[in-house]
Amino acid sequence: MSETPATSPNPLLVAWQTPHQTPPFAEIEPEHFLPAFEQAFADHAAEVNAITHDPTVPDFDNTVTALERSGRLLNKVSAVFYDLVSAHSNPAILEIDKEVSLRMARHWNPIMMNAVLFGRIVLLHENRATLNLTPEQMRLLERTYTRFHRAGAGLSEDAKKRMAEINERLAHLGTSFSHHLLGDEQDWFMELGEEDREGLSDSFVAAAKAAAEERGMAGKAIITLSRTFAETFLKSSPRRDLREKVYKAFIARGDNGNANDNNEVIVEILALREESAKLLGYPTYAAYRLEDSMAKTPEAVRGLLERVWKPARARALADRDELQGMISEEGGNFALAPWDWRYYAEKLRQAKANFDDAAIKPYLSLDHMIEAAFDCATRLFGITFSERKDIPVWHPDVRVWEVRDREGKHKALFYGDYFARASKRSGAWMTSLRDQQRLDGEIAPLIINVCNFAKGAEGEPSLLSPDDARTLFHEFGHGLHGMLSNVLFPSLSGTSVFTDFVELPSQLYEHWQERPEVLQKFARHYQTGEPLPEDLLQRFLAARKFNQGFATVEFVSSALVDLEFHTQPAAASRDVRAFEQAELKKIGMPEEIAMRHRPTQFGHIFTGDHYAAGYYSYMWSEVMDADAFGAFEEAGNIFDPATAKRLHDDIYSTGGSVDPEAAYVAFRGREPEPDALLRRRGLLETPEAA
Ligand SMILES: [Zn+2]
Repeated sequence: MSETPATSPNPLLVAWQTPHQTPPFAEIEPEHFLPAFEQAFADHAAEVNAITHDPTVPDFDNTVTALERSGRLLNKVSAVFYDLVSAHSNPAILEIDKEVSLRMARHWNPIMMNAVLFGRIVLLHENRATLNLTPEQMRLLERTYTRFHRAGAGLSEDAKKRMAEINERLAHLGTSFSHHLLGDEQDWFMELGEEDREGLSDSFVAAAKAAAEERGMAGKAIITLSRTFAETFLKSSPRRDLREKVYKAFIARGDNGNANDNNEVIVEILALREESAKLLGYPTYAAYRLEDSMAKTPEAVRGLLERVWKPARARALADRDELQGMISEEGGNFALAPWDWRYYAEKLRQAKANFDDAAIKPYLSLDHMIEAAFDCATRLFGITFSERKDIPVWHPDVRVWEVRDREGKHKALFYGDYFARASKRSGAWMTSLRDQQRLDGEIAPLIINVCNFAKGAEGEPSLLSPDDARTLFHEFGHGLHGMLSNVLFPSLSGTSVFTDFVELPSQLYEHWQERPEVLQKFARHYQTGEPLPEDLLQRFLAARKFNQGFATVEFVSSALVDLEFHTQPAAASRDVRAFEQAELKKIGMPEEIAMRHRPTQFGHIFTGDHYAAGYYSYMWSEVMDADAFGAFEEAGNIFDPATAKRLHDDIYSTGGSVDPEAAYVAFRGREPEPDALLRRRGLLETPEAA
């Protein structure tokens, strides 16, 4: 008989002795996850079983509140795991992810389709008026009922069985989709020889060198397919041949006919989503998905998108003609191609507004912009930030700040993981390691922002582009939604709101980043400390509306194609590329512009169902954020205390505990006025062309 080796306990399964009970990342190894998940699934199943078989008459406490208390270990393990999957993965983690996504579906299916449990919820829901519930309890009961009902808890046994199979398969497909995309992004790079660096800023070249070093090619410079790299290159490089190469690689992600190809994955996802919607009694997946949103119907979504599409397209076509004119004037004997747009638009912007990103970047160092984001939050909401060096992190680049309220009481920890690296998926996002709640005493949240900014050169700070700075504020706005959350129940915490409401706190926060009051104070030259010169500031602000036709067309076309994928019969999109082409033709997509996310790289709608038939949400939220910021402008002070208090009380702190439409009206005193969006994008005055 062999001796059992002495093993230390699984760090995911013990109480964390770290400051603020944060995850002890240094102790956590990939092999800890599967056993921890098994334990967490078992605990959760036992907790739910106890609720289901509780012999006492169902009441709010022994059913709805008890469900809120269940699954704590599962939440704890999942939060750490998914943070690593997206922000710092490795082959072992990705392998485990495949297994976990399947196990997750298998675990949740019998819970969400448990007839006895659902029976208790239905009983409470039917009698809700007589239960003497607080508004937050009522909201929770309604959300719980809706969640179970929409998952298929009320279906026949046969239909439930099929639903469970579909969910498992969809979980697998969603994971494949994101792994494929990551694979294509990791595989591709382009070396930049000395002669290929014309037009590229020093900070860009420094970042390209850092990227090469990270891949074991020290001394060289490469660009990868991260959006920041690709878009900046397309904007800056005069080398038409290289732009074409980068552009084609960028828009071909997931569509290369290799092992990472996502076309088949999409076809199957759409077919299964359609089938599940029909099992649940809806004509289309979009109808199913949108019922539980602010928009409510596909028609309402289409109405908004079409209203924006027309002026945006007209503006883009007029801009196209102007760019073509510029090429001809230069003696260029070619038609504007998609890989030329950003380059000539940037040139035109420099000529017209006498402004280019490179001139402002030295004033937008990452540290100064973090300081600006924090300062706005202090002035609006009274919270303060101090850096903590003693909190364990998943990568040495991650920084942590302690957040305190006006009285100096601990409110949250904020983790910032800002730099691009090969182990991180592309994009920027906010997530949490723990959500705020007060069910059994005050639980302070652990909130994360992840970005993909280029690192500075050796000894130099990271310098942000205006878009990067805006992204920083955007994600920080989501972060505030998590940090300022003040609800009783965990499932209503922070960003647990409708998808078409969730971008309001983030997009609204972007408005402060582009205000002179903020830029004058924080946009300081990283070497001299000089504030942003007034004329540069004015040109920067004027340039914000530039190229909005292009940006809006990129976005709205993606949102419309997403809507069509989930409205038309799945059979219509068996050839994904043909479907994409046909839909773009239908709306008159300018040939020189591609969707912001072509289908095979449209992680928003295919890595999970969160934004499926929901990509429009950003624009739905924009209608509100453009209108909401007006409240501060009308008050004549972008930090007006009374308006800020309403914003905190009605929007940032309420999470999912109130109806979003009611929350907005409470803040603004009326419904949002849609023209604010067009005005902000400079699209109200439609150009004469087309
Ligand atoms: Zn967002």
